[in-house]
Amino acid sequence: MNFKNRDIISIKDFSKEEIEYILDYAKRMVPYANGEKHTTLLSQHIMAALFFEPSTRTRLSFEIAMHRLGGNVIGFADPSGTSQKKGESLADTIRMADSYSDAIVIRHPHEGAARLAAEFSEVPVLNAGDGAGQHPTQCLLDLFTILTEKKKIKGNKVALVGDLKYGRTVHSLAYALSLFKADLTFVSPETLKMPKEVINECKEFGVEPVSTSNLEKAVKEADVLYVTRIQKERFPDPEEYNRVVGSYKINIELLKEAKKDIIVMHPLPRVTEIDPEVDKTPHAIYFKQAFNGVPVRMALLNLILGGKL
Ligand code: ASP
Repeated sequence: MNFKNRDIISIKDFSKEEIEYILDYAKRMVPYANGEKHTTLLSQHIMAALFFEPSTRTRLSFEIAMHRLGGNVIGFADPSGTSQKKGESLADTIRMADSYSDAIVIRHPHEGAARLAAEFSEVPVLNAGDGAGQHPTQCLLDLFTILTEKKKIKGNKVALVGDLKYGRTVHSLAYALSLFKADLTFVSPETLKMPKEVINECKEFGVEPVSTSNLEKAVKEADVLYVTRIQKERFPDPEEYNRVVGSYKINIELLKEAKKDIIVMHPLPRVTEIDPEVDKTPHAIYFKQAFNGVPVRMALLNLILGGKL
């Protein structure tokens, strides 16, 4: 399978076989990701990390991934220190990063920004989140986590909980889980339901997601609980946000009713939707999940930039 120079814009650009290949490759990256083994596979390469929107895990894990592969990193974590402030267009910023680096990682508040960047760039572009659109590398690390923890993806009952309207991680993940034939339940407040287009995509794979606001029932039945933050920054109307803030919370009480081996995932950051007391339970997988971003992003960078493993 050849990924050389490929853009990573949406999880929908990948076949099931390609995703399986990446997940398998990521598994082989784990000893390099945790520092047990060392490599200089990408020592001749530079990655540009252009973050037009806040990020902790995605940016750091992309940077760590590149460092662990022996490569170099340039970029910014906040566009306020760049010529964007002087009115430079996204296209021109991308043209520059293209000439300075071998791969561009971009996060942007506008849906479609990564796809646009790819049009102006010769070097491969990796979408690190575009507005409420897609977050393909998060999706791959989420799949990797489910596979590692549950040994399979197919047939698991996965409940996606929270802001399903604006959450890009769940938009990518619902699609991918349907491709792998997981059972899906969408749990959200009435105003934050999963968009119809995403539900229709799931149905195209023969999956019939159940939409509900009954969190207790969904927790009881789930093998995987994927909790998300309300995406405050995407609400056009602060009143809409005020009406839903604090409307769901995962705590130990709720998990007492769950299957013994339920795993709780979250793309992070969490705000109030998972009680920190859950952290001590064996169900809490979210910090492990965040670490998994390193081997998965190492796999992607190495595949795209053509390093031999
Ligand atoms: N970190 C994830 C994202 O960038 C989830 C979130 O921000 O709530 O989409």
